[in-house]
Amino acid sequence: MQPVTTLKGVGPQMAQRLARLHLETVQDLLFHLPLRYEDRDTVRQLGAMQPGESGVIVGRVEHAGVAEGRRRRLIVRISDGTGQADLVFFHFHPGQRQQMRPGTPIRCFGELRPGPTGLQMAHPEYRLGPQAEAGDSGPHGLTPVYPATQGLQQQTLRKLIDQALARARHMPDWLPTELTRDLGLPSLAEALHYVHKPPVDADTAPLVEGRHPCVQRLAVEELLAHHLSMRRLRAHLQASADAPAIHGDGRLTRRLLESLPFALTNAQRRVDRELAGDMAHAVPMLRLVQGDVGSGKTVVAALAALRAVEAGYQAVIMAPTELLAEQHLRSFSEWLAPLGLEVGWVSGRASGRKREAVLAALAAGELPVVVGTHALFQEDVRFHALGLVIVDEQHRFGVHQRLALKEKGHQGRSQPHQIIMTATPIPRTLAMTAYADLDVSLIDELPPGRKPVKTVALSESRRDEVVARIGAALEQGRQAYWVCTLIEDSEVLEAQAAEATYAALEEALPEHAVGLVHGRMKPTEKDAVMADFAAGRIGLLVATTVIEVGVNVPNASLMIIENAERLGLAQLHQLRGRVGRGEAESSCVLMYHGPLSRTARARLEVLRRSNDGFEIARRDLEIRGPGELLGTRQTGDLTYRVADLNRDAALLPRVQALGDRLQQQHPERVEPLVRRWVGAAERYGQV
Ligand code: ADP
Ligand code: MG
Repeated sequence: MQPVTTLKGVGPQMAQRLARLHLETVQDLLFHLPLRYEDRDTVRQLGAMQPGESGVIVGRVEHAGVAEGRRRRLIVRISDGTGQADLVFFHFHPGQRQQMRPGTPIRCFGELRPGPTGLQMAHPEYRLGPQAEAGDSGPHGLTPVYPATQGLQQQTLRKLIDQALARARHMPDWLPTELTRDLGLPSLAEALHYVHKPPVDADTAPLVEGRHPCVQRLAVEELLAHHLSMRRLRAHLQASADAPAIHGDGRLTRRLLESLPFALTNAQRRVDRELAGDMAHAVPMLRLVQGDVGSGKTVVAALAALRAVEAGYQAVIMAPTELLAEQHLRSFSEWLAPLGLEVGWVSGRASGRKREAVLAALAAGELPVVVGTHALFQEDVRFHALGLVIVDEQHRFGVHQRLALKEKGHQGRSQPHQIIMTATPIPRTLAMTAYADLDVSLIDELPPGRKPVKTVALSESRRDEVVARIGAALEQGRQAYWVCTLIEDSEVLEAQAAEATYAALEEALPEHAVGLVHGRMKPTEKDAVMADFAAGRIGLLVATTVIEVGVNVPNASLMIIENAERLGLAQLHQLRGRVGRGEAESSCVLMYHGPLSRTARARLEVLRRSNDGFEIARRDLEIRGPGELLGTRQTGDLTYRVADLNRDAALLPRVQALGDRLQQQHPERVEPLVRRWVGAAERYGQV
């Protein structure tokens, strides 16, 4: 891959400026697409032009003069026989005015704006004299305008991209012609040439908006390269390790199913079968279990864990927060203790001796199941025979951590199976492309009897009304959450805010028991408060976002979320999922500080209208873009140069099919294609 410094006119300083636009290789320049195009060939008639339009005008100078005032400026009135306009120059030299003699031919290019005396053109490019009427001798076509940066002129970018295009003639096209033809898309060379140098009569709107086949051609290639890169990574992971083939005998799973007070939903049963099927193979399973908040992922995880235990292996369940891990510990202990199984606990806060005892039991194989937080990543945690790793809410763990955990179970060539559970519903096509390294199981059904939560958005100025409403709900024996959120990612500040709110609410609701739970409390204190709330001894629970995941108190039917405008849709949906779990009609109040930004307003509106996690995720994708949705923005895993996952969503299924065909018919092209687009960014595979 040739660096930009191999181009004429690029020294170290220019290379630095280009790097600011992520333009490091000649190829990067080729994929740096124009923002818009200008027509500098066609001479326009002033009389037919509207303000806001740009174009070339050929006419004559009528008169020129310097206007004094707040800013000195040279004003040149021109006319082309169809209309008039004023050229305005704020920076000019005395000679410039002399040149503008009445009657002199002039050719200028710029944007027309409404001015005090009619149409104006500020600082146009222009030429004077007889050559003005002759027109351009250079190549004809639209002139591209590129995303630029300080110290990098359009002119310079155009020249460099011209050089790159000359070299692109020799660039191999990794997509076979028959494949692109089937899609109705042009060749790479054709596409590149067209997007950088469209003919003067090209319709530029589809080009600029990315709907044009030439842009789509590039987008398809880029999406395909990313997709193949992930597939390769996954194939590599699965080829480099074996996993235990787990055939449970059903002895434990059957007993768990019999002891549950409910029957599994069809979706839960289906996902359970998919997991069992994968685990029966000696290939490491990598499966994403997606299910909306409350869809019952935990019991499915417990069944998979029991299957591993039946076959003599250990299972670990890991959660991103203490509170969620504790909740899992409670569920798992409740379900597994009657089967005679002990559940271990490893968290960052577990104390010395107890922790050592658990670690020793894990290493000796005496503990079949362990629940914990990221503390499970630590060096000294060892297993006797780890067969299954379950990670809950993985969008909070980075991709890298996920791989680190996979390393954990490595014993020679053997690696545990892995399940990643997430309540962030990622639209399916996106999941398949962006998560090509994972199989996806979907729990697309809620247990019977769940009721949609009625959601309203209210301004913070109506706080008193909201408090009165809580009082009324508590009178009726209902329970409520008051969630305090902060924009800074600070547990300390969040806890302080929660404490202040707690004090205020206790005072405002003297007849009712108010509780407080936040991330800075001791686990035993937290437990005690949660237990009181679960038992109904506390009516109103003031909490930080620590309750976002996993907490399950069916009698709680009212939730107030403070500063709702600052939270993302996925998080708001998660929080709201804590209510609507019981018999009573539930409601959620999104309390905001006005004025709302447009996106904040849009987010709150989405929640008001929908309770469906998939619909919410789809809208989230529209509002925020996929990088943030997947939580990978920081790692840059999902930054595309040409493709745009929202705009190109319809291409994704084709990318899948294209990937299959390329892999089968031209396997040797996969590597160079991936290198072209993903290149060093495939660092994800090198962790
Ligand atoms: P999530 O998918 O959000 O993690 P949970 O696993 O916490 O959901 O389940 C939410 C609640 O629903 C729990 O109380 C759980 O016991 C209950 N539950 C799970 N599956 C079913 C089912 N098939 N029928 C009724 N209740 C269920
Ligand atoms: Mg859960």
